[in-house]
Amino acid sequence: HKSSFATVNPATGETVAEFDAIEGEEADARLEAANRAFDAWRRRPIEERAAVVGRAGALMRERKEELAQLITLEMGKLIAEARGEVDLAASILEYYAENGPHFAAAEPLDVDEGEAYLLNEPLGVLLGVMPWNFPLYQVVRFAGPNLVLGNTVLVKHAGICPQSALALESLFFDAEAPEGVYTNLFVGHEEISRIIDSPVVRGASLTGSEKAGAQVAERAGRNMKPSLLELGGSDVFIVLDGERLERTVGAAAAGRMANTGQSCVASKRFIVLADVYDDFVAGLRRAFEELRPGDPADESTTLGPLSSERAAADLVDQIRETVEQGAELVTGGRRIDRPGAFVEPTILAGVKPGMRAYGEELFGPAAVIYRVADEEEAIALANDSQYGLGGTVFCADVERGRKVAERVETGMVWVNHPTSTQPDLPFGGIKRSGYGRELSKLGMQEFVNRKLVRVL
Ligand code: NDP
Repeated sequence: HKSSFATVNPATGETVAEFDAIEGEEADARLEAANRAFDAWRRRPIEERAAVVGRAGALMRERKEELAQLITLEMGKLIAEARGEVDLAASILEYYAENGPHFAAAEPLDVDEGEAYLLNEPLGVLLGVMPWNFPLYQVVRFAGPNLVLGNTVLVKHAGICPQSALALESLFFDAEAPEGVYTNLFVGHEEISRIIDSPVVRGASLTGSEKAGAQVAERAGRNMKPSLLELGGSDVFIVLDGERLERTVGAAAAGRMANTGQSCVASKRFIVLADVYDDFVAGLRRAFEELRPGDPADESTTLGPLSSERAAADLVDQIRETVEQGAELVTGGRRIDRPGAFVEPTILAGVKPGMRAYGEELFGPAAVIYRVADEEEAIALANDSQYGLGGTVFCADVERGRKVAERVETGMVWVNHPTSTQPDLPFGGIKRSGYGRELSKLGMQEFVNRKLVRVL
């Protein structure tokens, strides 16, 4: 395990800044502060809490360039995408500032006599364990709705983006969140378990790997505390016809390559009907081979590094072993010969059950392409996965696309657009992709006491 917090520029390998982890009494003092803050925070009118979250959104827009540069420095995102992430994160904060009070309003229930209604009451201090792939977005979709609701949050961010973590804490502080309402915690993995055990903590939310998710959920379960898990995925991108193929190929390349492939809902398994297969593969290969590696802070770069040296090494291992197991390497497959965590855009074909790339998630610029005879085979292959996060179906006949989409066993399916996210739509998965939903009204119903009041 690691408990270090350091900014290492993945485009160069250079260590830029390091921070000490805290533990024991020092961590407990922050938990106590979050708990004290909760008592006052929950009693404030919800409009005031919403106003704090709204100010955080406005500040995020003011600090857009600085935050985007930080994201790019810490995890290697292309600068244009980093700016896009800041906008998205700000829009989430603004969305809950505006709609949160209405989502959390009391709900009357139909009864024969007297009155009955539900109150949406906050639970208390929540722990969020967050990943590096979208350093702002992942945190605000947890913190935004929960702060409006009246919960207070402790955020254990990923070890590789400590400066993004501190920038978020400053942002909420500057938005006039009282001390203890939003707390950054530089703590190691073992300390996380101890924090979940603390009676102060009332729930835990994790976005990240299955291993981390299982550890946090197991600990929460042992303590009878609710948890939410947003884990990996191996989303399909099903191509049912060759109409507007250029558009479909463009969407496929974007769906796989956004964030250099490091998204839980990236398109990872491309399932293509036989009559379109050759043209689709040729198009995707061209799109991949056009990408130009370079400094992600440089606007002209179209292929950034992975988030870390380890991430790049792991991906290349998965590809190499899949090829050793008999798969065909259509393009790519190696490290790029330059400093930094760069991997060639890769396409694998002829992947069969039992090979690594069949069952595992590829968290980087590597696509697996399957040729199928018909829709039924496409659906069966799509559902032969331990994951169930998102998915995409492309088809000019929208009705046909919709029917196939409805049979994909995941938490989300998009037709004619790669799976994405927006503030007003729920996000989450099933199977080993986790449970619970973030965003939309559903995202405000996870860490809440839906309390019945009956009046007779
Ligand atoms: P991790 O799951 O290791 O990191 C996510 C967060 O969990 C980090 O804050 C991390 O802390 C923490 N964490 C890690 N292990 C534990 C543990 N045992 N107990 C408590 N907390 C823990 O992701 P990785 O960076 O290792 O990425 C590996 C894989 O995770 C990817 O290949 C991908 O499959 C998946 N992933 C999915 C994401 C998603 O969006 N759903 C996002 C990121 C990763 P620390 O950084 O200090 O180790």
